[in-house]
Amino acid sequence: MDSQLKQRFIISLQYLEDTPDLLERETAAVVDKLRAAADRLPISHLLIGWHLPARLLDACRMEAEHLGMRFLRWHPLLTGDDIFQPRLSYQVIGASGHKVPGYCGKSEFTFVCPNHPEVREAVSRRLENLLQQGLYHGFFLDRVRFPSPAINPLDDLGCFCEHCRLRSAAIGLDLEQVRKTIVGLDQTAQGRLSLMQILLGGVAPALSKETTGLLLAFLKFRTQSVNDIVIMLSKSLKHAGVEIGLDCFSPSLAGMVGQDLGALSACVDWIKVMSYAHTRGPAGIPFELLGFFDYLSTINDLDPSRILGWIGDAIAIPLPATRQALEQKGISSISLEEELRRSVQTSLAPVLAGFELVQIEGVTELNDTQILADLDAVRRAGVAGLSISWDLWDIPLERFDLIFRIFPSISTTPGRP
Ligand SMILES: [Zn+2]
Repeated sequence: MDSQLKQRFIISLQYLEDTPDLLERETAAVVDKLRAAADRLPISHLLIGWHLPARLLDACRMEAEHLGMRFLRWHPLLTGDDIFQPRLSYQVIGASGHKVPGYCGKSEFTFVCPNHPEVREAVSRRLENLLQQGLYHGFFLDRVRFPSPAINPLDDLGCFCEHCRLRSAAIGLDLEQVRKTIVGLDQTAQGRLSLMQILLGGVAPALSKETTGLLLAFLKFRTQSVNDIVIMLSKSLKHAGVEIGLDCFSPSLAGMVGQDLGALSACVDWIKVMSYAHTRGPAGIPFELLGFFDYLSTINDLDPSRILGWIGDAIAIPLPATRQALEQKGISSISLEEELRRSVQTSLAPVLAGFELVQIEGVTELNDTQILADLDAVRRAGVAGLSISWDLWDIPLERFDLIFRIFPSISTTPGRP
């Protein structure tokens, strides 16, 4: 990364994720939207989708060059992309012994195991091939993690495949013992509560020291597994001289998906934290916390009115009083600020606040007052920039004007604070 980048307020923009209608979009409409976005904001990085038809990829690349934006590939690393497929033998295995299914059955949300030797080879080769195409200034690596266990830790907390078992045994960690412990905890209300507390980085007072130690060793093994593959890949990417950005869960949620923001940030040029305060979709803070809420409330012995309090205590962030309020309103701007501050304090690399601006029915319903309050939280947290999320195509452009109201010193020239 050039030294100038470290000093200016970075604004990155994700564009054209894989959707069923992507092939049908008119090239002119796609370019027009990008141009209109650049007219309103000094975009420094365009993070372009992974499964574009050549005509759209070429048009966006030329336009980005014309507009002075860096052109990075938005690349799902440990899930499917346009070429790499998460074949069954590669997939993460949950504590119940089943393959962890992809969110909504989607390939780009079906995770493969970072400890599988063939996976390591395949994802390296894939990046090598992309590097050779010479189309990108760098890579924005997404899905560099394990699947989220929030909705169902029994089925979704992994990995217990043969490769993970072998690797963990070498450091004295018995994954079968871990697996049986999780299966046992899942069967009681108190066990589930303790599991949630450990997964969210809290203290589980009801667990013995030995059980806590075992689960923490498992979580550490997972973060080490993710770190290792990032270290391996970042070496070759850095050798090629390209920029590396990394998509990360919000600090309170990162540990449960195997992401150690401090360690990961040492390997890349910047990290984006998905501190989506209002999103009801994967990685969104309300979505993930509601997953835990439902997991805990399906067992009868817990008082539903106390569940959100326990979850909030585990992440040390106050949450709305009811499930409905968390679902409809998300977390407060004060809580968002705290999450972003934690990421700035933890990360060794510049932090971009992943800022949701999409309007998607059932996933985000935002309003200007709340967007302005959240942007002010971003400003107070002192991040290095914004990563406007998560697809320009679904963002009403007038929302970009709100960014200017909170960050009046940014000019419309890319890279000029
Ligand atoms: Zn595995």
